[in-house]
Amino acid sequence: MALTGFGKRLRELFRSPEFGEEFYADLEDALIEADVGVRTAAESVETLRETARRERITTRAGLRAALRAQLRAYLVSQEIALVPGTVNLLLVLGVNGVGKTTTIAKLARHFKLARGIEKILLAAGDTFRAAAIDQLKLLGERLSLPVIAQDPGADPGAVVFDGISSAVARGADLVIADTAGRLHNREALVKELAKIDKIASSKIAPGAYKKVLVLDATTGQNSLAQAETFHAAVGVDSIVLTKADSTAKGGMIVPICRELGIPFSFVGSGEKLEDLEIFDPDLYVASLLGDS
Ligand code: GDP
Repeated sequence: MALTGFGKRLRELFRSPEFGEEFYADLEDALIEADVGVRTAAESVETLRETARRERITTRAGLRAALRAQLRAYLVSQEIALVPGTVNLLLVLGVNGVGKTTTIAKLARHFKLARGIEKILLAAGDTFRAAAIDQLKLLGERLSLPVIAQDPGADPGAVVFDGISSAVARGADLVIADTAGRLHNREALVKELAKIDKIASSKIAPGAYKKVLVLDATTGQNSLAQAETFHAAVGVDSIVLTKADSTAKGGMIVPICRELGIPFSFVGSGEKLEDLEIFDPDLYVASLLGDS
């Protein structure tokens, strides 16, 4: 996994010969610096200290193993499973610029090539920005996938409705729908998403409709707030973390899993459409701890 930003400091830390108070304070700092978040960093260090005391761990290998187990236990991962024999809908959420449109194309490519899903449709539900509609159409062309779109300013609920109806008519398996990442204000965004959500829930079979949130690894701690907002608005089923190839620290996966319990499914590792990896929590913890 591409996240290497904070492995280095933790690796250095575990080289120290002393595991006294200073070590724990430095560890807490390193975790915060890595975007693990103040609460989760403090709790991790406290638990590690207790575990070390209880299990009489005094070696660095022992402490590293204990921290690894502890961080791993916080993580939740789950692949996005499709229900066969019906239209599935992935409603893709996220603020502008996080890589939402690129991720939609990456997901379509993944489901087509890696999962053998033949009939996929894209729906341009971000009617707020004309550029978003054009970008999705372009990506659809590149992937030879139909894109259901209306004019800028159209009702996004109607676009999603069209996408689903069109999928039913064509016997398609999957609709991946874009949504606006910013409206005039947060209230308007939440209201619009709730409306789309209502339409989608009434048209799609139970279990075949999932809300996928896209978060940008370079956003750091703010991504926890974004996850909270979208989760409170419509409920998020799965998260894709983009730009993990950047210098991002990427530690926010830990507090998001721990505090919201939402599973991560994929990690974006570049700008190309093939740059999408299945989220592997063991590899992730390894990169956090600077194993490689
Ligand atoms: P949207 O506004 O959320 O739809 O974002 P876009 O899909 O247009 O992406 C914004 C920018 O992020 C573009 O330059 C993308 O190429 C880039 N991007 C998207 N995903 C990734 C990723 O995983 N890694 C890197 N390095 N760049 C990405």
